[in-house]
Amino acid sequence: MTIRVWDYVEEYGEERKEILDAVDRVFSSGRLVLGESVLGFEREFAAWHGVDHCVGVDNGTNAIVLALRALGVGPGDEVITVSNTAAPTVVAINAVGAVPVFVDVRDEDFLMDTGQVAAAIGPRTKVLLPVHLYGQCVDMGPLRRLAAEHGLAVLEDCAQAHGARQHGTLAGTTGDAAAFSFYPTKVLGAYGDGGGVITRSAETDRRLRRLRFYGMDDVYYTVETPAHNSRLDEVHAEILRHKLARLDAYIEGRRAVARRYEEGLAGTGLRLPATAPGNDHVYYVYVVRHPCRDEILKALAARGIELNISYPWPVHTMTGFAYLGYGEGDLPVTEAIAGEIFSLPMYPSLSPRVQDEVIGAVREAVDAL
Ligand SMILES: *Cc1c(COP(=O)(O)O)cnc(C)c1O
Repeated sequence: MTIRVWDYVEEYGEERKEILDAVDRVFSSGRLVLGESVLGFEREFAAWHGVDHCVGVDNGTNAIVLALRALGVGPGDEVITVSNTAAPTVVAINAVGAVPVFVDVRDEDFLMDTGQVAAAIGPRTKVLLPVHLYGQCVDMGPLRRLAAEHGLAVLEDCAQAHGARQHGTLAGTTGDAAAFSFYPTKVLGAYGDGGGVITRSAETDRRLRRLRFYGMDDVYYTVETPAHNSRLDEVHAEILRHKLARLDAYIEGRRAVARRYEEGLAGTGLRLPATAPGNDHVYYVYVVRHPCRDEILKALAARGIELNISYPWPVHTMTGFAYLGYGEGDLPVTEAIAGEIFSLPMYPSLSPRVQDEVIGAVREAVDAL
């Protein structure tokens, strides 16, 4: 039997009727694109965050692309972010012709080191783009202050942080806009691709609606500024409405898994995830660190336990981003952790029995080193 790092099949078994009902509602509605389900999800996802606006889009990468465009970012502008992230964060910056500028992450929690941001701000800087990585928030206070001081916008990459909080405030509600992915593995995931942007700004909302719809206003059927088609599908929106009602329970499930790992893996020498002060972690992934990472991975693979690495190659070392001119040693913490981190199975329906098998196998692998 294979134990996967992420799995949804058991969850589908539990929710099958509701999911199929949601699909049937859409298929029977007579409206398959930008209908009541997308509007309803947008309303409910915005309300869940206590903000006025949400625009559903086709995936998380385009959520970042459209949000950058809506915030006025274009060719030659600079966007400050991290290299320890999913490549799409940086792919999106590249897609609007902007230049990603990287700061390093903190050794204790692998999140953006906000202390390095001031030195990275230059005359072309437009946006600060913190990534709330693995399920917890980047320290937003310093970023808000720097943004106000330098006239910059803040775009939060919330693709891994649905429901995460900092000092009680939800991820995505302190920036000028926040981009979400609803890729199936995410804390709130569709049964296919999906994304969304939330904002408090009516103007940003209006721009986003045009940007996802060829550049048209719904009513006028004419294009002022040409754009793409980045619509969220009705069927995924309706499934997401069903899942949004369960989001708190999914997060509780993830936290229970994290607690069991914390107890089961104490004293193994593995460095377990540290929650930064003031943060409530939602554990999108459960990232641990050990200098003998590759041996541990091999031992577990031999027992049918799949682990993965988020992420094995820092973005600034990828050949596709060589043009940025970063070299080895430029981001020492990011480079050091890439060789040592790995992710244990994490999803809300992971059973204690299966999890204990993983814990036992990790303990044995570490003992055998
Ligand atoms: C998943 C992810 C994205 C991209 O989302 P897609 O829906 O896969 O396009 C962007 N940023 C981060 C941090 C992610 O984890």
